[in-house]
Amino acid sequence: TGTVLAVQANYYFVRLDPGCYPPNTGDMLLCTRRSRLRKIGQQVWVGDRVEVEEPDWAGQRGAIAQVFPRRSELDRPPIANADQILLVFALAEPALDPFQLSHFLVKAESTGLSVCLCLNKCDLLTEVELVAWGDRLRQWGYLPLMISVRENIGLDKLAPDLAKQITVVSGPSGVGKSSLLNALIPAVNLRVGEVSGKLQRGRHTTRHVELFELPAGGLLADSPGFNQPDLDCTPGELAHYFPEARQRMAQAACQFSNCLHREEPDCAVRGDWERYEHYRIFLEEAIARQEAQ
Ligand code: GDP
Ligand code: ZN
Repeated sequence: TGTVLAVQANYYFVRLDPGCYPPNTGDMLLCTRRSRLRKIGQQVWVGDRVEVEEPDWAGQRGAIAQVFPRRSELDRPPIANADQILLVFALAEPALDPFQLSHFLVKAESTGLSVCLCLNKCDLLTEVELVAWGDRLRQWGYLPLMISVRENIGLDKLAPDLAKQITVVSGPSGVGKSSLLNALIPAVNLRVGEVSGKLQRGRHTTRHVELFELPAGGLLADSPGFNQPDLDCTPGELAHYFPEARQRMAQAACQFSNCLHREEPDCAVRGDWERYEHYRIFLEEAIARQEAQ
């Protein structure tokens, strides 16, 4: 058994579990998918837990015979068994835009996975500014981790959160995601690179998701497609993707069970929380989307 770390054309890069391969062989196999799986339409995604048959240790080849049930699924791009979203934003260069951050946060929350917020480039802000952002985001219901990839600040605090899990990195461009991946993964996926050499094509010829192994355990997905946060939630779901609203709903119920928290009487969610305004903007978008369907 093993975990699919990368998919390229009809080939799957499987990292075998400890104890599933003989000593003196690598733990990576380049696998095909058994035709039986193709016939039943069973797809194999990055992150999938699989059973490999007929390993050819010398040639580092095998065939995927079974895909185990997934505990989570992200589509666009497809990633199986992800545990959390690591949302990366910059505190400066580019300046942190609260509305854009809200948008990414809601998108991340809508996956149902846990959300870890990481604010990079803390070297560009004063201590007073950092405390102000920290306080503000705690009001939003998040505990942001302030880091600087350039100055190597805070990365040690991030590592424990990433161990033993599959984490998907998200965030707009320019915030330092590539820099962060390079800092966390010293030799970026060298072993997958070795195996893909047998395919006679570069790893970076196609845009695809890939899971990178972290030194302390855990897998990190660098996902280009996940950086376009089009919301697609329904009006009724939206409030659940705001921690502030969730907290209010846990404390009291709205009078109407289908309350959209606009002008309805006896609403538990409407109130003077900073992002209520963002909620209303996303709500109007969600209503317009629903009416357009
Ligand atoms: P990506 O588009 O999110 O992958 O961002 P990159 O990793 O390409 O980084 C964008 C720019 O931000 C580059 O010029 C980096 O050198 C710079 N950068 C990354 N991390 C930091 C940081 O901690 N502090 C500062 N000041 N700049 C950083
Ligand atoms: Zn309400």
